[in-house]
Amino acid sequence: RMNTTLGQHVLKNPGVAQAIVDKASLKQSDVVLEVGPGSGNLTVKILEQAKKCIAVELDPRMAAEVTKRVQGTSMQKRLDVVLGDVIKTDPLPYFDVCISNTPYQISSPLVFKLLAHNPPARVCILMFQREFAMRLFAKPGDKLYSRLSVNAQMWAKIDHIMKVGKNNFKPPPQVESSVVRLVPKNPRPNISYEEWDGLLRICFVRKNKTLRASFLGTSSVLSMLEQNYRTFCAQNNVPIEEGPVEESTMLEVENFQEDPEQDLDGDEAEEWGGFMDVDDEEDSLPTFLKEQYASKSQLPERTPSRKKRDKVFLLVREKVRSVLEDKTSLADKRARMCDEADFLKLLYHFNLEGIHFM
Ligand code: SAM
Repeated sequence: RMNTTLGQHVLKNPGVAQAIVDKASLKQSDVVLEVGPGSGNLTVKILEQAKKCIAVELDPRMAAEVTKRVQGTSMQKRLDVVLGDVIKTDPLPYFDVCISNTPYQISSPLVFKLLAHNPPARVCILMFQREFAMRLFAKPGDKLYSRLSVNAQMWAKIDHIMKVGKNNFKPPPQVESSVVRLVPKNPRPNISYEEWDGLLRICFVRKNKTLRASFLGTSSVLSMLEQNYRTFCAQNNVPIEEGPVEESTMLEVENFQEDPEQDLDGDEAEEWGGFMDVDDEEDSLPTFLKEQYASKSQLPERTPSRKKRDKVFLLVREKVRSVLEDKTSLADKRARMCDEADFLKLLYHFNLEGIHFM
């Protein structure tokens, strides 16, 4: 009995299983990572061609079945069954090639894991649901274009190599399948995967919005970038308030004269929360409110003073604005229309400004 919630659709057509393994062009010295061996239809064909197969299987019944299948054969010693969730297996053991009739629930995290993997696999032959495969190939402007598409095409060369009809599986899934060859670029592009993906996550939260809206329209994004900026400054001995800040704001914060009579508290202090929200135009706040805000700056060492916090927040916001509007002129573009070159340009200019995404 198959557990379809684990994506257990076993390949019953041996011709298709053989074709998948053959597409990997295995060498006798290869260590192959197989994800989800199930009862071992691909596994035995892998073991006919490779030195070793490490098969990661989540379902203990299936793990037992594939183990039993090679028992007493010459393959037994060359099969290493690992019981567990491949996504949570960190780090993955060394492998040259990955082959998988992928359980559809982990398609996306598996691709991300393989793309981020270092050293890169020589080749990955992966069976996916057709629609998911199409997402990998989507281009700017396509409906299926996403963070996954950008990452797949950034870190790998991908080809659609086979269509597989649903009747080749037991039980047949709802949809058609596709076999994809994914060849990670080697050497890897000289860019931090985490930085790159961190940038894309922000851009693709709302892929139909302009980059200006995605970055400057929510205070949570800016607060996160502010936090990263503080970390970056601390780690690189950069004075945290260095750099251009809207001058009028700086002056007002700097020249402020403390007036203890007008200290804010209670409800008024609450209103200051709104000051941090970039949806509100802080320039429209009366000057005296800004000054009082600054008067809240005498806080203990450990929490950054409000005065400082505000300056850094504004500094980061100005850096982000200048990258989007001045340095790259991409502020009005929508993520769904941006290509790899646009994202590379963004990351380059953000990093030049000390803005980081991890
Ligand atoms: N390789 C076999 C075949 O082609 O006939 C079975 C493929 S079946 C589509 C997917 C297999 O992956 C199932 O055996 C399932 O138990 C296993 N699986 C599901 N989620 C998994 C996970 N997170 N990590 C490892 N294996 C998983």
